Amino acid sequence: MKINVKEMFGSNVFSDAVMKERLPKAAYIKMKATIEAGAELDPEVADIVAHEMKEWAIEKGATHYTHWFQPLTGITAEKHDAFIDPQTDGTTLLRFSGKELVKGEPDASSFPSGGLRATFEARGYTAWDCTSPAFIKETPHSTILCIPTTFCSYKGEALDKKTPLLRSMQALDIQATRIVHLFGKKSVKHVITYAGPEQEYFLVDKAKFLKRKDLIFTGRTLFGAMPPKGQEMDDHYFGTIPERILQFMDRFNQELWKLGIAAKTQHNEVAPAQHELAPIYGQNNIATDHNQLVMETAQRVAEELDLRCLLHEKPFAGINGSGKHNNWSMATDKGENLLDPGDNPHQNMQFLLILAAVLKAVDIYSDLLRASASVPGNDHRLGANEAPPAIVSVFIGEQLQDVVKQYIDSGEATRSIHGEEFDSGVNTIPTFEMDATDRNRTSPFAFTGNKFEFRMVGSTQSIADPNIVINTMVADVLGEFADILEKAEDFNSAVHDLIMDTIITHKRIIFNGDGYSEAWAQKAERRGLANIGCMVDAIGAFTSQKAIGLFGRHGVFTETELSSRVEIMYETYAKTINIEALTMIDMAKKQIVPATIKYQTSLAESINQIKTACDLDTSVQTKLLSDITENLKKMYSALGKLEQVTYQAEKMPDGEDQARFYHDVVFAAMNELRTPADKLEMLVAKEDWPIPSYGDLIFEV
Ligand code: ADP
Ligand code: MG
Repeated sequence: MKINVKEMFGSNVFSDAVMKERLPKAAYIKMKATIEAGAELDPEVADIVAHEMKEWAIEKGATHYTHWFQPLTGITAEKHDAFIDPQTDGTTLLRFSGKELVKGEPDASSFPSGGLRATFEARGYTAWDCTSPAFIKETPHSTILCIPTTFCSYKGEALDKKTPLLRSMQALDIQATRIVHLFGKKSVKHVITYAGPEQEYFLVDKAKFLKRKDLIFTGRTLFGAMPPKGQEMDDHYFGTIPERILQFMDRFNQELWKLGIAAKTQHNEVAPAQHELAPIYGQNNIATDHNQLVMETAQRVAEELDLRCLLHEKPFAGINGSGKHNNWSMATDKGENLLDPGDNPHQNMQFLLILAAVLKAVDIYSDLLRASASVPGNDHRLGANEAPPAIVSVFIGEQLQDVVKQYIDSGEATRSIHGEEFDSGVNTIPTFEMDATDRNRTSPFAFTGNKFEFRMVGSTQSIADPNIVINTMVADVLGEFADILEKAEDFNSAVHDLIMDTIITHKRIIFNGDGYSEAWAQKAERRGLANIGCMVDAIGAFTSQKAIGLFGRHGVFTETELSSRVEIMYETYAKTINIEALTMIDMAKKQIVPATIKYQTSLAESINQIKTACDLDTSVQTKLLSDITENLKKMYSALGKLEQVTYQAEKMPDGEDQARFYHDVVFAAMNELRTPADKLEMLVAKEDWPIPSYGDLIFEV
C-alpha cells in the first residue's frame, strides 16, 4: 500500500490549519489570540470552537470525547463521554458545548493526590490546555476526541503533571524575556521552551511475553540467566532492522504521523531487541503530550502485531536498559534559539550568559534534577555503566571548554577553536568542517550544539517531571541575573563579570570526560558532587527548604503540592517493589521450585536406572543432582526470607520509612532469591524450565 505521508500527517489533529479552515474568521482570530497570549477563552468563542470540533470529530467517526490528562501516576487518564443529547421524541442530537470543551469534572477520587484531596471532597476539575491541540485517538474498537487538559483539585492544587509544567514554562518565559530585552531585543514578547525526547523501548514476542508473569505484572524480568551471547558484539546498534520490527515501525510511524507527531528517526539500540524513536522537537507541553502518545501508541501497535512493547527502564538484568533523552532548548518568539552559540561563542555574550546560568542552575539544583529522574525502574540504570551515572554534571565540549578556560585563566575569552577540515582521502567525497566537539554519551547533562540533552530520564517517565525542574531552575538563575543587570551602570562590563564569576564559582559541575569511569566517581566526590544511587534517597530533595523556595518563588509548586508529590513517589516505590516481590514469590513457588523438583526426580530416577541396569558410573548425574539440590536449598531459604520481609513491609505505615525498608530489605531479599534461581536455570534441562529464557525473548523476535 502506497502511503501519502503529506495527507496522513496531522490528519487526526484539530490543528491551527483545521481551525482556520472551519471556524468563522472572527472566532478563529480570537482563538488564535487566546492561544498566543495564554489568556482565558471567551465563552462565546468556546461554544463556536466546541461545535466545529465536534462536527470535525464526528466526520472522523468519533462518538465520544474525553478530557485527556496526565495524573500523578500512570500514562494518561481519560473518561469518555458520548456526544448524545436524547430528545423527548426518542431521538438524539449530538452536542458538545463550549463549557464541556473548556472544563470537565471527572470523579477525581480514584486518582492519587498524595493527601491533597480527602475522599469526601473528591471534586477536581480538568481544564483545556488550548496551546496543545485536540486530537482523535483511533483504536481498533473506538474513535475518541481527546482534549488535552490540566487537572486540579477544587482548591486549585495541581493533581497532574501538566499544570506545573505550564507554570514552569511561564516562569522561564518571564525571566528569559527580561534577559533578551536587556540585550536590546525589545520586540521579543515570549521565550518558549522546547523538548525533543528520544524514546527507547524493547519489542518481544507476545506469546513468550504471556508466559512470563514477571513481564505481565511488573514489566521486567525478575528471573533470567544471561544468554551465551549478549550485546558484547555491539552488532545490533544501527544494524539492519528485522522484517517484523520494520512492520512495527511502519505502523508505529503512521499512527504517530496521523497525530501530528513528527516521528523522524528510528534505529536499533545497543541491546538486542531494543529500539529507539526520536521525534522532531516541539514546544515543551506539546512534546510532553506527544511523548505520552508515543508510549501509548507503541504499546497498542505492538499488540496488534502480536508483539509486546516493553517500556520499563530495565526489562533484562545484565542487558542495556532504556532511557529517554530529554533534549531541551529555549527560543524567542522571533525564532532565535538562545542556546545557539553561533560560529564564535567567545563573542556571543548573550549565549555565554545563558550558558553560565544553566551551569549555575545545574550546580545548585543537581539534587532536584536527580530527583526528577526518579522512578523505581530507573534505579537499575543510573550508575550501572550504561546510562549516565547518578552523579549530575554538565558536558560542554571542547570548544566551550576552551572559552570557559580562557575566562578562568585570564578573565576574558578572545578566540573560539573550530573543527578541522574533514578529509576522507576519497576524491569524490567532499571535505567538510568537522564539529568542533565530538559526542559524549556518558554525560547526564550534555550540551549538544544548540540544546542540552538531559539523559537521566527513565523510559517510562513523563518528560514533564524533568522539564518542570529544568525550566524552573534556569528561570530562577536568569531572574537573578536580570535583577543584577537591570541595575548595572555599565551593562557590558556587568555581563562580563557575571559570566566570569559564575563560571569560576560553578566550574566543578563541568565534566567532559568518561562519566562511566571509577576515576570520575572519586573525582566527583572530591568536588563535593552527590552520587545518589537510589530513588528513595533522591526524592526527599523536593521538600527541602531550597526546593520549596525555588518552586514557590516562581509559582510552580506550593509546599503542599511538593509534599503530596513526594508522598506519592514513596508510595509508588513501595507498591512497585511489593508487586515485584509478590510476583517473584509466586513464580518461585508455583513454577521454578516445582519444575526443579521434577527435573531433580527424573535425574534421581535415571541414576537408579543406570545403576540397576548395568552399574555404570553415574558421577556426572550425581554431581548435577547435588548442584541442583544445593541451589534449590538456597533458593528455598531465600524464598522464605523474602516472604517474611514482604509481609513485614506490608504491615508498615505508608511513607519514607516503608519505602526505605522496601529498598534496603525487600529488594535485597529479592536479589538473594534470584541468584540461586538463575543458577538453576543453567542446570535444569531447557524443556523442563517453566518460562522462556532471555535468549528466547531477545534473540527470537
Ligand atoms: P542524538 O542524541 O541521537 O544524536 P539528534 O541530534 O538527532 O540525536 O537529536 C535528538 C533529538 O533532539 C531529536 O528529537 C531532535 O528533534 C531534538 N532536537 C534537535 N534540536 C533541538 C532543539 N533546539 N531543542 C530541543 N530539541 C532538539
Ligand atoms: Mg541523544
